[in-house]
Amino acid sequence: MDLIRHHVAGQSVGSAERTGPVYDPATGAVQAEVAFASTAETDAAIAAAAAALPAWRATSLIKRADVFFRLRHLLVERADELAAIITAEHGKVLSDAKGEISRGIENVEFAAGLVHLLKGEHAEQVSRGVDVHSVKQPVGVVGAITPFNFPVMVPLWMTASAIACGNTVVLKPSEKDPSAALFLARLYEEAGLPAGVLNVVHGDKVAVDAILDSPTVRAVSFVGSTPIARSIYERAAAAGKRVQALGGAKNHMVVMPDADLDAAADAAVSAAYGSAGERCMAVSVLVAVGDDVADALVAKVAERIAGLTIGPGTDAASEMGPLITREHRDKVASYVAGAAAEGATVVVDGTAQRFEGGGFFIGVSLVDRVAPGMKVYDEEIFGPVLSVARVATYDEAVALINASPFANGTAVFTRDGGTARQFEFDIEVGMVGINVPIPVPVGAFSFGGWRNSLFGDSHIYGPESIHFYTRSKVVTTRWPDPSESQISLGFPSNH
Ligand code: NAD
Repeated sequence: MDLIRHHVAGQSVGSAERTGPVYDPATGAVQAEVAFASTAETDAAIAAAAAALPAWRATSLIKRADVFFRLRHLLVERADELAAIITAEHGKVLSDAKGEISRGIENVEFAAGLVHLLKGEHAEQVSRGVDVHSVKQPVGVVGAITPFNFPVMVPLWMTASAIACGNTVVLKPSEKDPSAALFLARLYEEAGLPAGVLNVVHGDKVAVDAILDSPTVRAVSFVGSTPIARSIYERAAAAGKRVQALGGAKNHMVVMPDADLDAAADAAVSAAYGSAGERCMAVSVLVAVGDDVADALVAKVAERIAGLTIGPGTDAASEMGPLITREHRDKVASYVAGAAAEGATVVVDGTAQRFEGGGFFIGVSLVDRVAPGMKVYDEEIFGPVLSVARVATYDEAVALINASPFANGTAVFTRDGGTARQFEFDIEVGMVGINVPIPVPVGAFSFGGWRNSLFGDSHIYGPESIHFYTRSKVVTTRWPDPSESQISLGFPSNH
């Protein structure tokens, strides 16, 4: 059995003392074991990052930018190979794997503009003969902890900006699909990144805690589920680190009576069941304004999902692959199984669909008349289950969404510009789509939710990441004529 090892200072290291299984979700077979780093092994990776920091920090911005131009080229050139690695361990269909690579490339393109991004400010003559300027300097060693569902894109969300800003990184990818992060680290080095600037350690809480507790690590970026995000935020902040911890989601898509219901149904099906619902921006609740809209939408969605093809991600005919593990599939099924007893109506029960072989497949489900207080509504399911919540008015739709503890993404479908503008004004959610079901911001903007979908105050990638991964320093300068020098004990005033 292959052992997937860590990547530290450009070397493959790690023992098989503690390991975890890496499945092929399409067959259910264990295809490799991944080494779980001990505290000492994680500390060694942190030490490698610290050792690489002075030289990387001193590398010219033009040379740093060169790495990102070359990395972009390599990612495009080797996208098929990387997509195959994602699909083999995650299970998502190949076209979806390529989609996440292309969204991750946006972060690399953004980082390639680092000379512009790292410009400070300058004010001349703030006082007589005195100028002030600011510079942005790296924070130091950065810890990056990522979830299973985007094994390339989320590591790129963090590493591109962190490294562009002159930091060095210890990346702890999900232990469920660890190989893509290793491939990425090697591509970075092929693109010219010195060994030690990006290190990858695999593992579980032991490795994560070592990152959180190390005084050498100055900032932590985390993406994962809400309970873990909250605990990471608390532990890292208590240790005095800068931290951004992005959590789970329950994304609502509002459909107004004036919307094109066929287009809304197409969008809902795509956004709810794509990647088997294992996307933090998946639409999981369709909020229908008015019973007529709800009845029509339920019928249209049910009609569309009857034709979906579920199968191995490597099969070009598959539109949806398996879930990540058997346990996760069973948990997703339990929400559908319990929905009727909670008062909801199960319109399509995908859990009844049978698949050959041992893969972690599940059919898609549609559950109507879902409301707060039901587990199927309150909890993040992270699977191919679309709920429909019925409300009577626009105001009720907004109140429902603003009362949710999650606030990652949301969308409104309408043909009325005034309604759309009001929704943008009223809704308390970090990312909003207007007739766009999955409003993941392009790389030149930042990504992040509100409330329990993000702990910390910086969104990830884009402009906010430059702020997060740098410390600003403000320099006040004077070149006095020695003949004018005098003693003054008063507080320096600029008037
Ligand atoms: P997870 O929280 O289980 O794991 C995320 C990372 O934390 C992994 O690297 C994992 O090894 C580590 N981890 C797990 N348990 C830990 C513990 N007790 N202590 C320390 N570290 C621990 O999440 P997941 O199942 O890999 O990913 C799915 C979740 O991520 C969903 O909730 C999804 O909404 C969320 N997500 C959010 C975003 C976002 O941008 N907000 C993006 C992608 C995924």
